[in-house]
Amino acid sequence: MERTDVLVVGGGLVGNALAYYLARAGVDVLLIDRDDVNNAASGRNAGSLHVQLTSSYLDKEAPADAERAVEAMISVLVQSIATWRELSRELDCDVELNVGGGLMVAETDDEMRGLERKAAIERRVGLEVELLGVNEVRAIAPYLGPSIIGAEFCPLEGKVNPLPATPALARGAVRAGARIARHRTLTSFRRESDAIVAETDRGDIRCQRMVCATGAWTDAILNRAGARLPGVSMPQHMNVSEPVEHFMDHLVQHAGGRLTLKQGADGHVIIGGGRPAELDPATGFVRVLRTSIEGNVAIALHVVPRLGHLRIVRTWAGIGFMTDGPPVLGPVPGTEGLYVAVPAGPGCTSGPFSARLLADHLMGKPPALDLAPFTIERFAGI
Ligand SMILES: Cc1cc2nc3c(=O)[nH]c(=O)nc-3n(C[C@H](O)[C@H](O)[C@H](O)COP(=O)(O)OP(=O)(O)OC[C@H]3O[C@@H](n4cnc5c(N)ncnc54)[C@H](O)[C@@H]3O)c2cc1C
Repeated sequence: MERTDVLVVGGGLVGNALAYYLARAGVDVLLIDRDDVNNAASGRNAGSLHVQLTSSYLDKEAPADAERAVEAMISVLVQSIATWRELSRELDCDVELNVGGGLMVAETDDEMRGLERKAAIERRVGLEVELLGVNEVRAIAPYLGPSIIGAEFCPLEGKVNPLPATPALARGAVRAGARIARHRTLTSFRRESDAIVAETDRGDIRCQRMVCATGAWTDAILNRAGARLPGVSMPQHMNVSEPVEHFMDHLVQHAGGRLTLKQGADGHVIIGGGRPAELDPATGFVRVLRTSIEGNVAIALHVVPRLGHLRIVRTWAGIGFMTDGPPVLGPVPGTEGLYVAVPAGPGCTSGPFSARLLADHLMGKPPALDLAPFTIERFAGI
């Protein structure tokens, strides 16, 4: 029977980053994915690096009991940007990292008041953000349309290109000694006296620790161990325009939700936030819906009118998975040696740092942040 110390199930950003950090520290790692690496959410996302809270906080008054969770979440996202900066220097390819700052733009007085409330929460937990009026926002982002009346600016936001990033982590992991087995599916697992035996469609693997870095499929796997990971799977799509000369430095989001915009290194404008997309449960294929393209592009044109002169050249869809926000990292109670690794809400942003937190825990090193707010036990009873 094949053996390893740590078996990582899932070859997305989180699984590969985990294999990378563990293998570099000399840990024996085997990663399996039922597909190719980077073929699920990690290879289909918009590459936006988010730090400010989402627009769902616009109408919240930050109840005191939620403030600790918000603080934990912001700490993860701030350190996630630092991790991406490090990776952009370490990895063997250009991951097109650009931390040019992010604007959440408002078109109505209500949205502006919501941004003020949100900024107050963020400042209380120590995040540096700035509220910009119409003249200030126009001065730094002259490409915005006339309906934009203000914005919240977070200097730590930006973008990365998810297509080269995950394969580069996989290459780095393999160079450091990790093994990666593509097209190998975990079908079940059992705890024996001295190990976990992972059953796969290509034979059993005996491991000391098994980490589920399986994104939207994690709940189904953990159910076998009697654990639950509640969350929402959200089929959504992306649009990409033809390339134009560089005119946008920021990540732009709309305070009403449902839009992210940024310009890639090669000039394409990446328009995210399109939903719903349609999941075919029989094949797992996620289809882009024309009505969602139209709705998403209509908001984009409002925010950046010059996009109206560009053609959409590509669309694709994927399944996003959201829990309650912060990452879910650490042991799964009831099965010794079983671990979970699901990144914080914006998982492209937080994937590598979330993986590093768990890697340090697995190696017995004190992680950069206490894992207590991130345990799966927080969902007990939900
Ligand atoms: C359209 C879209 C846009 C997004 N935009 C952004 C964004 O702009 N910014 C941001 O921060 N985040 C964004 N996200 C979220 C982000 O992409 C994800 O949170 C992140 O990629 C999750 O990484 P992961 O490694 O946990 O999961 P995944 O990348 O989904 O990887 C999980 C892997 O597990 C494998 N797997 C599952 N079950 C098994 C099994 N039984 N055996 C073996 N392998 C298995 C799958 O094949 C898959 O490769 C977006 C997501 C989508 C879908």
